[in-house]
Amino acid sequence: MNRRQFLSAAAAGAAAFVSVPTAFARQASKYDLLIKGGRVIDPSLRLDAVRDVAIAGGRITAVETNITGAAAETIDARGKLVVPGLLDIHTHTGRSADGPGLVLRDGVTGWIDAGSQGADHIGDIVAVARSSVQPGRVLINIGRAGILPDGDTMDLARADVAAAKDAVGKNREYVVGVKARLSREVAGANDYEVLRRAQEVASSFNLPVMIHMGQTISPIGKLVALLKRGDIVTHMFAPPPNAIVDDSGHIVPEVLAARRRGVWFDVGNGQTGHMRWDTIGTIMKAGFWPDTFSTDWNTNSKTTGVIDLPNCMSKLLGYGMTVSEAIACATVNAARMFPVFGDRGTLNVGAPADVALLELREGTFEFLDNYKGTITGKQRFFPAGTILAGKKM
Ligand SMILES: [Zn+2]
Repeated sequence: MNRRQFLSAAAAGAAAFVSVPTAFARQASKYDLLIKGGRVIDPSLRLDAVRDVAIAGGRITAVETNITGAAAETIDARGKLVVPGLLDIHTHTGRSADGPGLVLRDGVTGWIDAGSQGADHIGDIVAVARSSVQPGRVLINIGRAGILPDGDTMDLARADVAAAKDAVGKNREYVVGVKARLSREVAGANDYEVLRRAQEVASSFNLPVMIHMGQTISPIGKLVALLKRGDIVTHMFAPPPNAIVDDSGHIVPEVLAARRRGVWFDVGNGQTGHMRWDTIGTIMKAGFWPDTFSTDWNTNSKTTGVIDLPNCMSKLLGYGMTVSEAIACATVNAARMFPVFGDRGTLNVGAPADVALLELREGTFEFLDNYKGTITGKQRFFPAGTILAGKKM
């Protein structure tokens, strides 16, 4: 319809008049959402500046100074950080139906459940991932019964390759890797063979393995030698025995070799045995910094040293990590680890409009390790709002 036909159609009847304001109103709102005046930090674009972020149709449409087009809704983000939606690659979000909604409030717009369940009950976790409002995916525990109080694979028969392969094969969309928990109270002396079996399952589907390291019976060097490009070491700050750093402060050679061939190293904050300030200090001083932060989240994290991902992201600021580097660890770096996050962790124009608003408060903050040790920091990130697929949550 050209303009003349449109006008004559409009003149022709009341029905056309009704539609005119609707059409104009839709045109008037160029954007669905406009986030105004925040400090936009997007390490994927090496951007750290005050910008407006415009969103339409669930995608980022512009990141510029002073965007003026009309928006259906505007958020005043002055004084806040505006960053890509946070990605948490080691959580136990899938253990409860309300998990995804809870982490969403912390700014987490993508999560990985890391080994809560094995082949026997993988369907429980996949069901939560399937109904999650944000992308959620699952690493299958090589121990077929999942996490057990007396050790997932203390009985080596539970590291059942055939059962795991069957479960992965039936859930290809949601199972994106294999988790092997290797600490002595989890796998005992079976650690190496458990990892070998996890790798057998993962490799046959071209998927990564994530190992839970720390206090293993086998030396860490022997274990990481089994890891391939794209695999992930979580709990990288675990104290001895078998830390990634030796007594004289040198990173274990096989660990350096693993990073060189493309193995990722993740924090995995957790609650017990995974991080101690003195070990963290030594590893940071050696220059072996994490690729990603992750929480090892579960529903009681608010009452532990974890609290939320932004809190975990704050813990290395006192060790020389910059704000931008900390944000990179929870956005662009995490996005590179799993294809499901491939177009996320960025505010690039055209990307899904997943955005986390954070407050970076200055003051005196106490941070906890897993051994009741505290350090005091001068800055802490706090969650201050989440936008998922262009919608304010
Ligand atoms: Zn975990």
